[in-house]
Amino acid sequence: MRLETFIRKSLGMKAHTVVKTEERPDGGLVAHVERLPGRRLACGECGRPAGKVATTRRPARRWQDLALRDQPLWLVSAPHRVWCPQCGLRVERVPWAEKWQRVTHALARAVATVARKLDWASVAAHFRLNWKTVASVVEAAVLWGLAHRRWVPLHVVGIDEVSRRKGQQYLTLVYDLARRRVVWVGKDRDEGTLQRFFAWLGPRCARAIRVVCCDMWRPYLAVLRTAVPQATVVFDRFHVTQHATEAVDTVRRQMWRQLAEAEKPDFKRTRFLWLKNPANLRRDERTRLSGLLRLNAPIVKASLLKEDLRRFWADRSTAWAADHLRQWLWRASHSRLEPFQKLAKTIRAHRDGILAWTTLRVTNGALEGMNNKVKGISHRAFGFRTTWTYIANIYHCCAELPLP
Ligand SMILES: [Zn+2]
Repeated sequence: MRLETFIRKSLGMKAHTVVKTEERPDGGLVAHVERLPGRRLACGECGRPAGKVATTRRPARRWQDLALRDQPLWLVSAPHRVWCPQCGLRVERVPWAEKWQRVTHALARAVATVARKLDWASVAAHFRLNWKTVASVVEAAVLWGLAHRRWVPLHVVGIDEVSRRKGQQYLTLVYDLARRRVVWVGKDRDEGTLQRFFAWLGPRCARAIRVVCCDMWRPYLAVLRTAVPQATVVFDRFHVTQHATEAVDTVRRQMWRQLAEAEKPDFKRTRFLWLKNPANLRRDERTRLSGLLRLNAPIVKASLLKEDLRRFWADRSTAWAADHLRQWLWRASHSRLEPFQKLAKTIRAHRDGILAWTTLRVTNGALEGMNNKVKGISHRAFGFRTTWTYIANIYHCCAELPLP
């Protein structure tokens, strides 16, 4: 088979053919594509077969295709203008590529598949494309996937947030915790965001939701009560632990400020000692920690409180857990540590939702795992120009959307 025929057949051309191929001096192949006389072309707007083909043509365009034995392959063709009975004079729709894309369907599919595993810069380097082309392929794949995904009822939902550029811009993520995937991504992290999610979901699908797992710090409760009154709200281990860690950190920083200058050197780079699980400390680290303990009683108290709260999640029965939590709340509110008193207040106000965890245990790890995955994506992708690019990548890697 001639190379031209091979390319034509592999691209499934019906109204076009490859008239010649040429090698480029710097490597790679260029296939020149022309229309087959007498065959009907499609309208670029609506896709229907167009009537007449106009005499004038668009300037020649170039599409990159999958490489042939590691030789980059380009298609070159000057699109025709066609008369569509519906839309009037339009540019033809070429069957090998999506409108506005600079790569063929085949290459776009390969790029989209690999972009689920690698960061965009590596994908671009692998396929010899520029970064923007990768971004536009992924964005198109996500739009297609969102429009074509099969809906499966949501029963266990997790709501979480991520920030782009360290706290500058927040996104709210809604997960299907049973299937461990992202269902919806929205800008900001307020009541309005959640209302937009439920408006998108519709009341019929919302009725299937049994459990909602979220952070008690967010003003979500009012929205949840009206949108999913039948669901149990669970405040999960992941978020509560996060807040306890923050409280320890606040106590540490307050102490740091109060300490006399002379004592400072001893205190430097000790943050990890407080945050590390005591069982994982090395011997010298333990010695340093015990030295610091004498110096910093409030921080000791704070880390013990945090540890004790961590043990709460291991309690086997709800009755034990309730008892444990009651004792913890008493200790925290009498600790004379302001961050922990605040934490205790919030936990007391959301006690039912925290205790609900002990019977359901649905969220253990699932939310945290998803959160880490999304964070990993945010870190590895540099220079997302727009929020939409960022959102598209989250959908692409975490939502298990179908590919075009
Ligand atoms: Zn048309």
